[in-house]
Amino acid sequence: MHWSDGSLFKLPFKYLRGECPCAACIDEWTGRRILDLDTIPESIQPEQMAPSGNYALKFTWSDGHSSGLYTWDHLLDVCRRHTS
Ligand SMILES: [Zn+2]
Repeated sequence: MHWSDGSLFKLPFKYLRGECPCAACIDEWTGRRILDLDTIPESIQPEQMAPSGNYALKFTWSDGHSSGLYTWDHLLDVCRRHTS
């Protein structure tokens, strides 16, 4: 993943899938992750990545999950946390 400030992050798809911010994966009230990371297949990959407006990316994952909307802010946050 390449950012406009020139930094480059390498993220495993599995990690990114685990950071899905949708209501099915994260409890809206507590912010806790509902999704069990162990259930994500190692072979997970995005089948589609479509921009949503100019603020987010919508992923369609190979496990059929497609409700996650990753804002750029969220993506950057995920990348930073992964690399630090
Ligand atoms: Zn999700």
